[in-house]
Formats: sequence, C-alpha cells, structure tokens
Amino acid sequence: MFISLISSDQVKKPGKLIEKRLGRKLEPYDIWYDGFKARSTIPEKDLTAKTGKKYSSAAAFHSGINSILTTLGFSTDKAAAISSKIQVDPSRGAGHAWGAQMRTDKSHLRTRLTPKGMDYKGYNIAIHELGHNVEQTISLQDVDYYILRGVPNTAFTEAWAFIFQKRDLELLEMKDSNPQKEHLSALNTLWSAFEIMGVSLVDMKVWNWLYKHPNADKTTLKNAVVRIARQVWNKYFHGIFPQKDVELLAVYSHMIDYPLYLPAYPIGHIAEFQIEQQISGKNLGSEMTRICSKGKIVPDLWMKNAAGKPLGISHLINAAQIALKHIK
Ligand SMILES: [Zn+2]
Repeated sequence: MFISLISSDQVKKPGKLIEKRLGRKLEPYDIWYDGFKARSTIPEKDLTAKTGKKYSSAAAFHSGINSILTTLGFSTDKAAAISSKIQVDPSRGAGHAWGAQMRTDKSHLRTRLTPKGMDYKGYNIAIHELGHNVEQTISLQDVDYYILRGVPNTAFTEAWAFIFQKRDLELLEMKDSNPQKEHLSALNTLWSAFEIMGVSLVDMKVWNWLYKHPNADKTTLKNAVVRIARQVWNKYFHGIFPQKDVELLAVYSHMIDYPLYLPAYPIGHIAEFQIEQQISGKNLGSEMTRICSKGKIVPDLWMKNAAGKPLGISHLINAAQIALKHIK
C-alpha cells in the first residue's frame, strides 16, 4: 500500500502544485508543507485567546466534553455516559490518552495547561486525545465480548483522533467556510501520508536490517538508519524533490524507541479517509458508536463493516485527483 501510494503520479502532482504555491523549487523540509491546512489562515494568537478563556483548567475542559460530544452529534445521554468515563489530568508532556482496562474504570486524558489556561496548540492536541478517549470508551463499554475490546491496532484509534482533531475549529465555533476545504483536506492527507509512509518504510527496513545483524552496536545501527533513509529518499522522493542523498526521513526517534509504530500513522490516515467518506453527511456520534462497538476484529473486516470496503488507498487517490482540479 505504501509503495504504491508514494510511487504514484498522484503524489508527483501535488509536489508541482506546492512548488507553484511557494514560488520556488521544493526543499527537503517541504515534506512537512502545511499550506493545505485550513487553520493556517487564522492567526494562532486569536485561537489561543479563545481556548485560554474557554479552558482555563483541566476541570474546565472536562466540563466541556459533554458539549463537544453533542456538537459532534452524540445524543445527550451518550455524551454524558462517555464523559463520565473520562478523567482529565494536567500533563507534563504534550498530551496523552490512556485507555481503561476495566469497564468500571475511567480512561485518562492528559493535557498541557499553561498558567493562562490551554493554548491553541494544547487544545488541538487535547481534541486529538479526546478522539482516542471516546474510541477507547465505546470500544470497551459497547463491545459484546470483553476479549474483543478495542480496535484492530493503533492505526484505527489514530484515525478517530485525526477525525476529532480536524474538527477543532468547528468546536470553537470558528468553522472554516472555505468551499475548497474538502479538496484541501484530501491534498493535505495525501501529502502527509507521502511523508510518513517514507518514514515508515525506513522504520520497516531498519528493523529488517537489525534482525539480520543481531550483534550490531549503536554506531553500525546509526549508520544503517542513515544509509536506509538515503536509499528510500533517492528511490521515492528524489524526482519530486531535486535534492539527492537526503537523510531527513531518519529523523523520528520513535523508530528505535517504539519498534514498528510509525506505520500506524499512514495506515491511520488511510483509515481516517475511508471513515470520513463514510460519515460525510451522517451523524458522527452514531456512526462512531456503530463502528467502534465491533471491537478488535481483523483490520479488513473492521473496515468493511465501517465503510463498506477493506482498507485501501483508492479513496484517497481518487479524492486527491479530483482536488487537484480545484486547488490552484
Ligand atoms: Zn494519537
């Protein structure tokens, strides 16, 4: 899936479009180009002024969960049941969602607060984490067999976190009325999938190398990571990017810290996109409850139940192709 997406023509075209929008040739760091995101048009300080006032403490964010959930389409009862199973704690890091294991227990949403309340960055992450907590709660409470609690793997909970996070402005009543929003979102998803799929290929190849070299020390491992990053870049990124031998795809320390975790992000983007198309024009609350109550079944079956088809890149590729006709 990753290789067919990153070597497709549909990735080359947004590369050209980004060059046109930037008025210069692509630089390697443009793998993180974020100009397709709707929020970059609103100044961050205006957003922080709003979030700081609304969410001055962890308790204030907890009291806000009910209304966030009803805004997303959950019924009043369901919203209350879910929020009673989430505890909000102040965090030292950026934010985190820790699911419960017992039905009587609560999941924890850890969120960063400043003395002036939640800044926009903290809020954006808190909404992402809330997506995890809601998934964790439904897939623990509403699954018929306890052993099947959860989702197929990390990618599927990331998909829900992305779906929530993308609605952060709408939840602040700052809904972006840009008619091109849907097309921008398709290109943004495609471009971020391109970046993280490259990183994920490096991750998989590094672990493959490590199994073949069980006695590697830190220096040989480091050299292998850097060499593999260059190989992946030269094969899939050079051509869209003029530079050769770039080592940027080796930048994520997760690769060694959490083995084979990075591929969950692009699979999460693919799942997100399929679910977004499924819930478009429908009630997010009831669709999420229906989808997450199936539990930890095999990924393709989960996705077939969720959105009618097994996991695949065709939805994303098609939407990006249409988007390229609308976005200049
Ligand atoms: Zn996440």
